[in-house]
This record gives sequence, C-alpha cells and structure tokens, in this order.
Amino acid sequence: MGVPCFRTSPARKNKRRSHLALKPKNSVQCPNCGNVKLPHRACSSCGYVRPGLQVNVGGDS
Ligand SMILES: [Zn+2]
Repeated sequence: MGVPCFRTSPARKNKRRSHLALKPKNSVQCPNCGNVKLPHRACSSCGYVRPGLQVNVGGDS
C-alpha cells in the first residue's frame, strides 16, 4: 500500500484548504410577495417565476 514519503506541513495543508471555504448563497427578494428566494428559481412561498408565469407550490390540496 502506498504511503506518503513526507508528512504534509501545516502551511502546505492550510494552503491546500484555502480554496475549500463555502461561499454565501445569493438570494433575492420575490417581487410578488417579498419573500427571500434564489435567483432564477420559482418563489417557494407563492410560486412566482416572472410576469405572466406562476407555478403551483406544493400545498395540501
Ligand atoms: Zn413569492
């Protein structure tokens, strides 16, 4: 089984992990109901997509 020849130094490890941070999610306000939603997605509370298009949000009916 392959074993690393040298141990990874803390600096090398931290430099490798410098790209692993998560970016905050982008969010916009729904122009229909004002709820926070993801851009280019239907609103999760009212189903608004764009003027003239609205999708059903999963309700109990
Ligand atoms: Zn909405």
